[in-house]
Amino acid sequence: MFSLVKSSCNFTQREWLYVCAQCGHQLFSSRSKYEHSSPWPAFTETVLQDSVSKHEERLGAFKVRCGKCGNGLGHEFVGDGPKKGLSRF
Ligand SMILES: [Zn+2]
Repeated sequence: MFSLVKSSCNFTQREWLYVCAQCGHQLFSSRSKYEHSSPWPAFTETVLQDSVSKHEERLGAFKVRCGKCGNGLGHEFVGDGPKKGLSRF
């Protein structure tokens, strides 16, 4: 879950990184964070191509896990981002 994710600061790029609470794998950056009505932080994209692994749960919704250790992180909702064509994590 996102509530378990801790953040660390990358001073050179002035952005916050959200990493896996279990293994420290880089997941999301503050650059792709945006405000959403849900209580969880919302992101449009992951930091790395292999940041997360996805499992289609139903049409347009993927279960998202850490790409390294498999820690459950939540869901990706395709097309539910702040702009058309963007995803919400
Ligand atoms: Zn992990």
